[in-house]
Amino acid sequence: MAATIDYTTSKGYKVKLQTGLFINNEFVNGSETIETINPSTGKVIAQVQAANKEDVDAAVKAASDAFHGPWRQMSSSKRAALMFKLADLIDRENEALSQVETLDNGKGITFSRNFDVKQIAITLRYFAGYADKIHGKVIDTDGALSYTRHEPIGVCGAIIPWNFPLMMLGWKLGPALATGNTVVVKTSEMTPLSALKVCELVVEAGFPPGVINIITGYGAIAGDALARHQKVAKIAFTGSTAVGRHIMKAASESNLKKVTLELGGKSPNIIFDDADLDQAVRWAHKGIFFNHGQCCCAGSRIYVQESIKDEFLKKFKEYTSQTKLGNPHDDDTFQGPQVSQTQFDRIMGYIEEGKKQGATCYMGGNRWGDEGYFIEPTVFTDVKEDMTIVKEEIFGPVVTVSTFKDVDDVLKMALDTDYGLAAAVFTKDTARAIDVSNRLQAGTVWVNCYNELDYNTPFGGFRQSGIGRENGEYALDNYIQVKTVKINVSRKP
Ligand code: NAD
Ligand code: MN
Repeated sequence: MAATIDYTTSKGYKVKLQTGLFINNEFVNGSETIETINPSTGKVIAQVQAANKEDVDAAVKAASDAFHGPWRQMSSSKRAALMFKLADLIDRENEALSQVETLDNGKGITFSRNFDVKQIAITLRYFAGYADKIHGKVIDTDGALSYTRHEPIGVCGAIIPWNFPLMMLGWKLGPALATGNTVVVKTSEMTPLSALKVCELVVEAGFPPGVINIITGYGAIAGDALARHQKVAKIAFTGSTAVGRHIMKAASESNLKKVTLELGGKSPNIIFDDADLDQAVRWAHKGIFFNHGQCCCAGSRIYVQESIKDEFLKKFKEYTSQTKLGNPHDDDTFQGPQVSQTQFDRIMGYIEEGKKQGATCYMGGNRWGDEGYFIEPTVFTDVKEDMTIVKEEIFGPVVTVSTFKDVDDVLKMALDTDYGLAAAVFTKDTARAIDVSNRLQAGTVWVNCYNELDYNTPFGGFRQSGIGRENGEYALDNYIQVKTVKINVSRKP
C-alpha cells in the first residue's frame, strides 16, 4: 500500500491523491521513489514510486492475465460501457484532475479544464463507440469462403510524455481498449500525478484488474524495460525523436513488437499577403505559444510574405504582449512555466544560440520572475534558414519569422527539414490553399487555422516525425491484427 499526497496549491485548492504503481487495480510500492516538481516554484510536490524491471514484469503479467482472462471473455458492448463510464467519471472529476494537471505540468488552469481533461473524456467516448463495431470482411474466393477477423494484439505498452499527460493517456487507452487489448502505460517522470487520479476512477468504473496498468518511473529504466519486454506485443511512444529511435531498437532487439511513434517537429506556418491578417496573427500566436510552445506540432517557423512582414510583426507583438504570463492557477493565465529545469535550460540555450548566430531577438528572450521555469514569449527575426533556431525543435515559447517572395520560394524553405508532423497555410485563395497543402510534406496541414486537434481526425508524422496515426478510425489499425480464415467449399487438394 503506497502513500497519499496531500498538497495545497497556491490558490488554496486541496489536492489529494494516492501514489503507487497501479497494477491489478491496486497501488503498490516500487523499488525506488522519484520526486515530482512544481514547475511554478521549482519545489518538490511529492514523491512517487519508480518502477524497475521487476515491477514492469509484474505490470505486464497483470495485463497478460487480464487479456487471456476476463477482458477476452467480456462482450464488446460491456467493454464499451466501461469506457463510457470512465469518461463520465473523468468529467465528474474535471476540477480535481485540472488542478493536478496544472500543479504538476504548469499549464493554465483554464486550459486544463476546457481542453486537457475534456479531451481525455471525449477521446475515450469516441473509441468506446467503436468497441462493438470492430469487424473484418468477407472475401469471395473461388471454391472457398474467406473472411477476416480483426483481433486484438495482446498487451500494449505505452510511453507518454509530459506536455499533455491526460490527453496522451486518452490517445493511448482509447484505441487499445476499444479493440480488446490490455495496457501498461508508463507516464513521464515530469508529470506522473494526473494519471494516478485516473487510476482511482478506473477502479470505480469497474474495469477488471489488470486491464489498465499505469506505472510511474524513469524512461531509461521502466520505459526501456517495457520497450524490451518479450510479452509486450505492441508499443506506442510519444516523445523525442532520439528516444523514438531507441524504442525501435529495443523492439527489434527483443520480440519485434509492433511500434508506433509520434515524435518531434519543426512545423512551418506560411502566411500569404492576401490572408486575413488579424486572424492569421491570432492563429499564429496559438500555433506557437499554446501550451508554452510545448507541442510536437507547434508552428515554430513562421514564413510571412515580404510585403506584409512589418505589419504582421507589429500586430503579432501587440497581440502576444497582451496575453498573460504568470501563475497557472489563475483563471486568466495564458502561459505558465515550462515543465522542468532541464527544458528551461535547453530553451534558454537555444535563445542564446540564436543571438550568437546573429538573429535579432524582436521580443522576449528572457526568464520571467525569480522562481519557477517561466520564459517570455520570444520572437526572432532576421534569421537565416541554416541557423540552429530554424533547424532544431526548441519545444518552448520561441518562434522564428522568415520572409518569402512566392510559393516556390517558401516551399523550398518549408520542406527543408527531416520532420513532417504539421504545417499551415493562410490565404483567401482556395486554389492556392489546396495546391500548397498538397505540396507540403506533413501529417496534418491546417488551412487558415493552427493547432486544431480533433479526436476523430488522424494525427501523426511524415518523415522522422513518426510512424502510424493516432486518433480517428485510422488509429484502430495500430491495435488489431488481421486473421484470414479460409473454409473450403469445393476445392480439391
Ligand atoms: P523524452 O522523449 O525523453 O520522454 C518522453 C517519454 O519517454 C517519457 O515518458 C520518458 O520517461 C520516456 N523515455 C525516456 N528515455 C527512454 C528510454 N531510453 N526508453 C524508454 N522510454 C524512455 O522527452 P523529454 O526528454 O522529456 O523531452 C525532450 C524533448 O523531446 C523535448 O524538448 C521535445 O523536443 C521532445 N518531446 C516531444 C514530445 C511530443 O509530443 N512529440 C513530447 C515531449 C517531448
Ligand atoms: Mn511536475
